[in-house]
Amino acid sequence: MAEHLKLSNVTVEFRLGRERLTALKDVSLSLAPGEFGAIIGPSGCGKSTLLRVVADIIQPTHGTISIGDQPPAEIRLNQLIGFVFQDATLLPWRNVIENVKLPLIILRDSNRQVERSPQELVDLVGLTGFEKAMPSQLSGGMQQRVAIARALVLNPQVLLLDEPFGALDEITRQRMNLELLRIWAESQTSALLVTHSIAEAVFMADRVFVLTGGPGQVKAERPVPLDRPRTLDMMRSQPFFDTVNFVRDALYSDEMPSESNSPPS
Ligand code: ADP
Ligand code: MG
Repeated sequence: MAEHLKLSNVTVEFRLGRERLTALKDVSLSLAPGEFGAIIGPSGCGKSTLLRVVADIIQPTHGTISIGDQPPAEIRLNQLIGFVFQDATLLPWRNVIENVKLPLIILRDSNRQVERSPQELVDLVGLTGFEKAMPSQLSGGMQQRVAIARALVLNPQVLLLDEPFGALDEITRQRMNLELLRIWAESQTSALLVTHSIAEAVFMADRVFVLTGGPGQVKAERPVPLDRPRTLDMMRSQPFFDTVNFVRDALYSDEMPSESNSPPS
């Protein structure tokens, strides 16, 4: 597998007064170019910390992160990462197209040639006609679409998604997940999605990483043997059930599943 995003033995410690909390311990994982990865694990196991360390928002205590051959400083400088948070974090006083343009405005002085047209991205996320709408006029799902468009405007190589539809109802969430897969396929980025739904992780990803807490470690990794594009009826297929069962066993057992270190690929 050609490695694109690569974390090698990443450890993150937080200092809480005199105490040290190890949020991530020796986490190694990699994604191939264009691959969709999902990270699943219980609350507090370090999923958001993992994305934040990839995005260079926090620095690892030990270990390294790279995209292609580029280390974190270059990754940040070249804006290779797009980040979508659980809450849409839009600027409430700017309309849809202005929110999508925001990263371009912040980067005004650089001579980037790899930007994508904000209008094209508004179209891509299905918000044509809502360019002038204010965030308060949009549903939660529409706000997250704006956040996804904004994350893609600098044409990142990796899209990080931290429970992006966690606040939405089940039906809207399923619809948004299908939309997200379509957007990801068109944008040709790699993606790393954090979720605490086993079914969602398996349905969305090419590769599922199971994280356990105290401290956060990758307990198992599993490729998903489902074709693209994904369709809802695949959720009733045997390969889907088998992968869900593997991930569930990995999440709930204290033992490492025997196949976990040699997934079939
Ligand atoms: P998750 O996203 O899986 O719910 P987090 O990555 O948010 O988990 O947190 C992992 C652990 O690290 C938790 O115990 C959390 O309290 C702790 N933590 C996260 N961010 C900080 C921080 N900035 N300072 C101290 N502790 C933190
Ligand atoms: Mg989190």
